Amino acid sequence: MDIEDMERRNQKFIADNDEVIFAHETTILNNSLKDSWKILLVDSDGEFHEITKLALEGLKFENKSLTFFSAYSGTEAKQIIQKNPDIAIILLGQIMENDNAGLEVVEYIRNILQNKLVRIILQTGQPERVPEDTIILRCNINDYKTKTELILNKLTTKIIAGLRGFSALIKIEKSKQQLSDIALENAKLYEQIEKYTDTLEDKVTERTQELEIKNRQLEKEIQERKNIEKTLQEVNQKLELLVNVDGLTGISNRRHFDNCLSREWRRLKREQKPLSLIICDVDHFKLYNDSYGHLQGDNCLRQIAQTMAQIINRPADLVARYGGEEFAVILPNTDLSGAHEVAKKLRQSIKDLKLRHKSSQTGQFVTISIGISSQIPHQDQSLEDLIITADQALYTAKAQGRDRIVISN
Ligand code: GH3
Ligand code: MG
Ligand code: MG
Repeated sequence: MDIEDMERRNQKFIADNDEVIFAHETTILNNSLKDSWKILLVDSDGEFHEITKLALEGLKFENKSLTFFSAYSGTEAKQIIQKNPDIAIILLGQIMENDNAGLEVVEYIRNILQNKLVRIILQTGQPERVPEDTIILRCNINDYKTKTELILNKLTTKIIAGLRGFSALIKIEKSKQQLSDIALENAKLYEQIEKYTDTLEDKVTERTQELEIKNRQLEKEIQERKNIEKTLQEVNQKLELLVNVDGLTGISNRRHFDNCLSREWRRLKREQKPLSLIICDVDHFKLYNDSYGHLQGDNCLRQIAQTMAQIINRPADLVARYGGEEFAVILPNTDLSGAHEVAKKLRQSIKDLKLRHKSSQTGQFVTISIGISSQIPHQDQSLEDLIITADQALYTAKAQGRDRIVISN
């Protein structure tokens, strides 16, 4: 086989494996463990090629056979290795177109192509021309053998050792590649996490601010509601008071009197304690109005009410405007004699006001007549009985000449 044939064969191989043509390291890694091991034979001696191929014929390593490339000069070798970066082993002659051609190829592979993977076995017919140690150290050559020794003795062993080394390097490179892929992937993930964390923090801050605003609004609303409730309570209390208070005199009205009397009646019925009722009526009040006018009459009623209220000061007692110029006093837990004492004070205090009443047929000042009734509430008695008897006593007091107290019997 001449050089042209060899070149054609190599070109065909390259065309069949066109991904190899622009191969970089990754291609080496992917390719070299496929199909077969590429072995490049470089020597100007055609016989060397034939003998070497014969010697290695049928050799397999890791279940892959060998594919041979042949170059007959350093220049040719450089072209082939450049196009086939996945060559596993180069059996390289030292002396070809010049004495240094082999070493130039080594330099080109390691320094220019930066191919650190291919195993290079330098062989020469004239070992005495280059000292072995210097060559191996200077050129990163994996082995150095004399041509004869190589072919005859240890070629197979050397090739297997070279392939083992190449295969191991490829695996290490592959692992390095995977590690760097993982590192790259991790870096990407880390970047994504950082971005996500950033946006997450932004969102949390945004959400917290929204919540704080809502919280403040809620607190404001709650405070407003509390204020409204407080105002409502105050208004209700005032209303309750108004509902129970007589507008003219400021003391309890008839409504409050009725409620209080029936409540006390039920309570004292349970406790079997006396309940006394005093009804007072201003004497000749029509005449008072006629004499002094209605406004003066109102004023008179106010003074009488306030005076009575000062006398009735026990918490359970109640003085109320019963209607017109009539006033009533509820005295719980008070018997007739106790009620009589209160009535006397009432009558006297009004007298002591010395409200002039020029048209009165009873005296020169305003006076009141008083009827008293008292009962321990009983099953077969009603509250009306208590009121009627007090009314009757008052009627009697009027009939007897006014300005007096009558106790019902
Ligand atoms: P008696 O001694 O028998 O009780 O005679 P009296 O005139 O007091 O009784 P009468 O029932 O005839 O008249 C009551 C008067 O009280 C009539 C009414 O004009 C007056 N009066 C009732 N309520 C008010 C009021 O709110 N203001 C004023 N100024 N007068 C009132
Ligand atoms: Mg009256
Ligand atoms: Mg009267």
